[in-house]
Amino acid sequence: MAFDNHYARLPERFYVSLLPTPVKAPRLIRYNEALADELDLNFDAQDRDRLAAIFSGNQLPEGAEPLAMAYAGHQFGNFVPQLGDGRALLLGEVVDRNGKRRDIQLKGAGPTPFSRNGDGRAALGPVLREYIVSEAMAALGIPATRALAAVASGEPVIRETVLPGAVFTRVAASHIRVGTFQFFAARGDEDGVRQLADHVIARHYPQLEQTENRILALFNAIAERQAFLVARWLSVGFIHGVMNTDNMTVSGETIDFGPCAFLDEYDPRKVFSSIDRQGRYAYANQPAIAQWNLARLAECLLPLFEGGEEQAVEDANAALKTFGETFQRHWLANFRAKLGVEGEGEDDLALVNDFLSLMQQGGADFTLTFRALSKLAGGADVQGLVGLFSHPAGLSDWITRWRGRLGRDHEPAEKQKAMEAVNPAIIARNHRIEEAIAAAIYDDFSLFHRLVDALANPYEENADHADLALPPRPEERVMRTFCGT
Ligand code: AMP
Ligand code: MG
Repeated sequence: MAFDNHYARLPERFYVSLLPTPVKAPRLIRYNEALADELDLNFDAQDRDRLAAIFSGNQLPEGAEPLAMAYAGHQFGNFVPQLGDGRALLLGEVVDRNGKRRDIQLKGAGPTPFSRNGDGRAALGPVLREYIVSEAMAALGIPATRALAAVASGEPVIRETVLPGAVFTRVAASHIRVGTFQFFAARGDEDGVRQLADHVIARHYPQLEQTENRILALFNAIAERQAFLVARWLSVGFIHGVMNTDNMTVSGETIDFGPCAFLDEYDPRKVFSSIDRQGRYAYANQPAIAQWNLARLAECLLPLFEGGEEQAVEDANAALKTFGETFQRHWLANFRAKLGVEGEGEDDLALVNDFLSLMQQGGADFTLTFRALSKLAGGADVQGLVGLFSHPAGLSDWITRWRGRLGRDHEPAEKQKAMEAVNPAIIARNHRIEEAIAAAIYDDFSLFHRLVDALANPYEENADHADLALPPRPEERVMRTFCGT
């Protein structure tokens, strides 16, 4: 790994340097060769023992400067002034083949000064879940941290029960969170906030380097990326599950795949996470929560906006309002594409919302419905769509409106193709993830590998993976997901 570490050059109060704690018997579960190639890593993919040693933290690659990052965060609305990497260690940064700087981080590499009462370790289940879902998101074209490797540690971890342990290697544009800014702001460390802001501009928003009122410009740019991201989440039915401010990056990548899940049947109030009792992070709440998190970021950056306090507050409020509008614009653009409509029709918002209401009323599977609609545009029988609704009343009228909006000026096969390019055939279904994890605990990784392979091409139908694309049967439904931390 050709490390080129910048975060480690920041002042000492930004992190704690320390080594991973070795594990007993590391065994490679999976190594992402395509990603390794993108990162220009030149490990021998056949040398599984060496990969296991490196991606468990047992062997430190040359140039690594492992450190635990300091951060704070609002967890379910409550501020915690110190969280930090309690079980993760940043090995360092590499510049990938596209010239992009990427963090390489081990998760589950042992305790750190930020571990509080935790053991610094990760259980196998959450590691596999993060591997599956983060790679699925990336394949869907949604900004997300990536999975480079998963290694079984050969050590047990104690959660509600005794479980096998594992170490996950995550690749991110950076691991800087809203909560990283909060860490310094909460200490009244304005200089820390400024240095972090400068680092983030240089790393993620270099085009702002020369802008006037650059910290405000930075805030706007972060908000814009979050608006884009959350709109993309909603377009595939993704529920993050723990949108705490420490789980929101400033790079605009999805991070921390804990109790996350995809919708099966469409329900905007849907919550999977066992710890989200109030539905704070429900599917349709995600844009409002992103805005709430951005308001917390604004509070950190405000003292650095130009033009005096009053002006700064006004600018922050304007920026937050713009977030709402930008999100709405991205959301509508996503759903217009999902319906296959071109240009901007005045009634498009109603057309989308009415379809979603019909889906909710009919308990229709979110993914299959948009895929069936794509086929309908291509000339398929209407029953393929209608059959997905338990209460199809009103659907036929809606289809007539939709056909009217599509117009006649298109080749059906082309339309279907365009729609299928944005409406996935397969998503990471919860019941399949749980099944893969359950088998892996008994050392059978075949379903895990099959899932990861199937999810690599989500917009293509593949007969070999047809079973993995289906929604759960009633007895297969997973009602709750867990962080497992
Ligand atoms: P998360 O729920 O993964 O976003 O983590 C929230 C906080 O808890 C972070 O500061 C983590 O580092 C910490 N944490 C989670 N699991 C563990 C663990 N097993 N040991 C130590 N710290 C942990
Ligand atoms: Mg987290």
